[in-house]
Amino acid sequence: MAQVYLKTVKFGGSSLADANQFRKVKSIITAEESRRFVVPSAPGKRSASDTKITDMLYSCQKIAAEGGDISEVFGKIRARYMEIAKELALNFDPTDALDEVFENLKNGATKDYAASRGEYLNGLLLASYLEYPFVDAAEVVRFDEQGVLMMDATMSLMRAKLNGMDCAVIPGFYGADEKGNVITFSRGGSDITGSLVARAVHADIYENWTDVSGVLVADPRIVANAAPINTITYEELRELSYMGASVLHEDAIFPVRAEGIPINIRNTNEPDAPGTMIVASDSEDSDTFTGYTITGIAGRKGFCAINIQKAMMNGEIGFCRKVLSVLEEMNISFEHMPSGIDTMSIILHEDAIHGREQTVLSKIRKAVSPDHLEIEHGISLLAVVGRGMRRTRGTAARIFASLAHARINVKMIDQGSSELNIIIGLLDGDFEEAVRRIYDMFVSSTMK
Ligand code: ASP
Repeated sequence: MAQVYLKTVKFGGSSLADANQFRKVKSIITAEESRRFVVPSAPGKRSASDTKITDMLYSCQKIAAEGGDISEVFGKIRARYMEIAKELALNFDPTDALDEVFENLKNGATKDYAASRGEYLNGLLLASYLEYPFVDAAEVVRFDEQGVLMMDATMSLMRAKLNGMDCAVIPGFYGADEKGNVITFSRGGSDITGSLVARAVHADIYENWTDVSGVLVADPRIVANAAPINTITYEELRELSYMGASVLHEDAIFPVRAEGIPINIRNTNEPDAPGTMIVASDSEDSDTFTGYTITGIAGRKGFCAINIQKAMMNGEIGFCRKVLSVLEEMNISFEHMPSGIDTMSIILHEDAIHGREQTVLSKIRKAVSPDHLEIEHGISLLAVVGRGMRRTRGTAARIFASLAHARINVKMIDQGSSELNIIIGLLDGDFEEAVRRIYDMFVSSTMK
């Protein structure tokens, strides 16, 4: 691999939850000269029952807006930051910054301002600990008045500020509009800030440090000890994220993708593990190719299917359009539409149709007079994703054989034209077992 000169490194909330985590972060950063632009999240949970600073800040804002007293909740926030500063024996005393945030929250600050202070204060602490300059994200991340990120303006501001700097700490999750009002991304948005900084400084790699050793082939709550994925393409990650694998904020991919900067997901608690590389493309002869046919399995419960049957449906011009017009009219988006000669099914999220089922059915009935019309609940969608499928024969046969052996009934199959994924509809009750069977077929049995 070519020598890497410049990395942007983003650390998630659990990586900066207390002083001990800060120590790990510092040793990661100082281990390589290339780790020069650092994007922190707010302190996250220290244990499963703990509360994230961001959530406490949202509570303060709500309490203040309802005319309540924020002292108790803010006291907990203050204690967390003070403890980190004290344990690390920082030269910086966060008291003044905390007092200012407290006053602003008490006086009715906006929700976005409140939430952003978690990253802001953590950035001040981390900058002092690393002895790196602090750059306030409000100066370099620009939003328009509707709260939409302005990419060009952000790139110009970041470049103007960071170009002459050797290193910096830039807090994640927020920026500001032209008038200086603080605006945040949606939850988990520090990932986006990291990606923006990586693009602005033309980083060779964007390292995203979290608490798992990369993107896993399957959900570890379903498959114990699921293997990490070595290399995944942006497209594959998008497919998996869409189907429920939560790794990175969805919008974090686009800024770096435009520059071809790979993202490396790493584990702060296991810094020697290589993690997962998210790359633009990968080929069989590249040294990163792992050889597995499938890259990952993800899925979600909570779908339903509208099943429509009508004799001679295939000859009836405009049948499909009429059905879909009903959904369009009711502003309902659907996920898939498998069809047969005289049948079609529309798979949708339960949420999309909840409370409006009968109206939808009666409108469809009126539009196309079907012979049979029903709605089926309790459906899961499972996606098997892999760039390796394109060059491998028999992938579908192996998937369905593994399900057949487990006596799992497949309700729908959809293979996209890109041959990057196969989506399978199942009953909710079969979902977990299906994931395990497919994992066993492709990963456990070919483990290297
Ligand atoms: N602290 C924010 C959140 O909890 C943003 C982030 O961590 O990326 O969502």
